[in-house]
Amino acid sequence: MRSLADLISDGVRGTRVLVRADLNVPLDTSTGDPIITDDGRIKASLPTLKALIEAGARVIVVAHLGRPENGRDPSLSLAPISARLAELLGQEVRLSTDVAGPDSSKQADALTDGDVLLLENVRFEPAETSKDPELRGAFADLLAGLAQSYVDDAFGAVHRRHASVYDVALRLPHAAGDLVRSEVEVLDRLTQDPERPYVVVLGGSKVSDKLPVIRALLPKVDRLLIGGGMCFTFLAAQGHDVGGSLLEEDQIETCRGLLEEAGDRIVLPVDIVVAQALVADAQLQVVSAQQIPGDRKGLDIGPHTVLAFTEHLKQAKTVFWNGPMGVFELAPFAAGTRGIAQAVADVDGLSVVGGGDSAAAVRQLGLDESAYSHISTGGGASLEYLEGKQLPGLAVLDESAGQAATP
Ligand code: ADP
Ligand code: MG
Repeated sequence: MRSLADLISDGVRGTRVLVRADLNVPLDTSTGDPIITDDGRIKASLPTLKALIEAGARVIVVAHLGRPENGRDPSLSLAPISARLAELLGQEVRLSTDVAGPDSSKQADALTDGDVLLLENVRFEPAETSKDPELRGAFADLLAGLAQSYVDDAFGAVHRRHASVYDVALRLPHAAGDLVRSEVEVLDRLTQDPERPYVVVLGGSKVSDKLPVIRALLPKVDRLLIGGGMCFTFLAAQGHDVGGSLLEEDQIETCRGLLEEAGDRIVLPVDIVVAQALVADAQLQVVSAQQIPGDRKGLDIGPHTVLAFTEHLKQAKTVFWNGPMGVFELAPFAAGTRGIAQAVADVDGLSVVGGGDSAAAVRQLGLDESAYSHISTGGGASLEYLEGKQLPGLAVLDESAGQAATP
């Protein structure tokens, strides 16, 4: 895989470089003007962009925001992102009105060395995410036509076979951006001979989303600590009543099998914070994980569980954490996530946080980001990488431009 440094040393001054960045940040649209609630991904994109700007490249950034349903959706315009990016870079960032159409071409032609142009939300073009390689390819031709080389720095999108991630790399000389490289390096340390004890903490809402990664990691870890909404399907698999908590009935058997296979390597909560409803002024109660009342929902792990998980984390030399331990977005249910985030921050060894909501939780709960070895920008991408899957956006960077990659 060619690095950004390789590309830059070949000379990029005066040339147009198309950079796929991951600027898919959470937006609060409740007050009219969209407000970026967590700009972590924009900040993570800066090193690659700055390196290219300094090297005198004419930078064209392509990125997506959300999932526009039917083409153009003004509420998902990249306008707020371009404003924030300009602030962080300390220079003007132009925004095209189309994705790879006449306005993009005109604005790309007008760039001078070190300028930055952001293309409008690439998912406004249905071809971007099409399953049809010809449709994607035709769109990738337009994107590739804007530039002389391509840098993929959108780690959060490398698991997608999308035009701006995959097909465009087949058409231009390309390199991996610094963010993609650092993400891959860290994830490799988690999969190749991690220092032990190796402890993984998983939470979040859907157990079905995380089963593949549980299967892949179980043989490698010393402990797998499970909290969040997904713990209830495991508790149900042990025969406990979980009341109104999140439950995926069709996964109970699978979870039972995993518990059998894992023995004491899977650690489940011993106590749970429950409430009647998911509201900010809820009446809280801490109950045994084995006795959740029928009319209550489990919305966070309890204090004894935080202590027990913390004990495991204290001994760990390698930790990967994905998925909040409770509904941290509401203050009454944030303590479990805060406690685990703190324990992971205190790990004496490699500590990696993966997952969009987990990374947002770290920042929202005011933890010191620098206390972690690495906070991944990619949720799905980091999980799929840990599962050992081949990710299209990475595989294609190993191919040379013009060469057909395996479909
Ligand atoms: P990540 O983005 O870090 O991979 P997920 O998307 O899997 O994490 O899960 C995040 C969501 O899980 C959060 O919005 C949080 O509110 C929710 N969650 C955590 N615990 C529970 C629970 N006990 N009940 C319902 N939802 C939960
Ligand atoms: Mg998420």
